[in-house]
Amino acid sequence: MAIKKNQICAICGNRFTLTEGLFLRDLSDLLKEQVLKTNSYAKDSSFICLKDMQRLRIDHMQTIIDQDLNIDHEMSDHLKKELAKDTYVITNINDTVYGKRTRGQKLADAVAKFGGSWGFIITFVIILVGWMALNVLHLFGIHFDPYPFILLNLFLSCVAAIQAPIIMMSQNRAADRDRFDSENDYKTNKKSEMEIRILHQKLDQLIEVQWPHILDIQKMQIEVLSEIENEIQSLKIDNEPKRERNTRHPNK
Ligand SMILES: [Zn+2]
Repeated sequence: MAIKKNQICAICGNRFTLTEGLFLRDLSDLLKEQVLKTNSYAKDSSFICLKDMQRLRIDHMQTIIDQDLNIDHEMSDHLKKELAKDTYVITNINDTVYGKRTRGQKLADAVAKFGGSWGFIITFVIILVGWMALNVLHLFGIHFDPYPFILLNLFLSCVAAIQAPIIMMSQNRAADRDRFDSENDYKTNKKSEMEIRILHQKLDQLIEVQWPHILDIQKMQIEVLSEIENEIQSLKIDNEPKRERNTRHPNK
């Protein structure tokens, strides 16, 4: 008995049996949306034949792939532009601060370094004690600065007066270095932040958009496979009586 072709395809308008197509309500949300967008007269209860269904699926997959590729390209371009910006060139502080030192600055640095060390304190204590011992004990008959050591006072005042501005020079240079350092840190942080932000966007795009799209495509592939299997089964069933007839014939 022939099966009645009582379903009309909403796309090609031909008549089909119930097994030769699908209803719009059985499709995935994304595919349904796509069909409704391109065929305004289609409804949830509309029937679509398998041939049109294949075409719709392929169109839908192509749209998804194109969309994802476009977004990927946009993001990659954005990242490239950010990375190419001149503001993100990182400078080496050792080159800029230490590379251009004048002889005076080098001397100031050396004096400040020695002035703030245990070596300086010990040497100075030895000189002071030696000076006082010479003048109090009259060792070797020398007593050029008797108690209360006025010359020593003058000597110490002179050392302090010279040492203070030299240390300040060195400190100014240290402050310059800190400024360069923080400027560099700021640039590096900004660059890193921008990169992380773009990576975040890429990851979000991957998880929230592309992953569901991949699953959707996979689902469509499985649907197509099961439809092919159904068709093979129905072809087998159609061919069964013919084969039986052919095998029975010679015995008659
Ligand atoms: Zn059709």
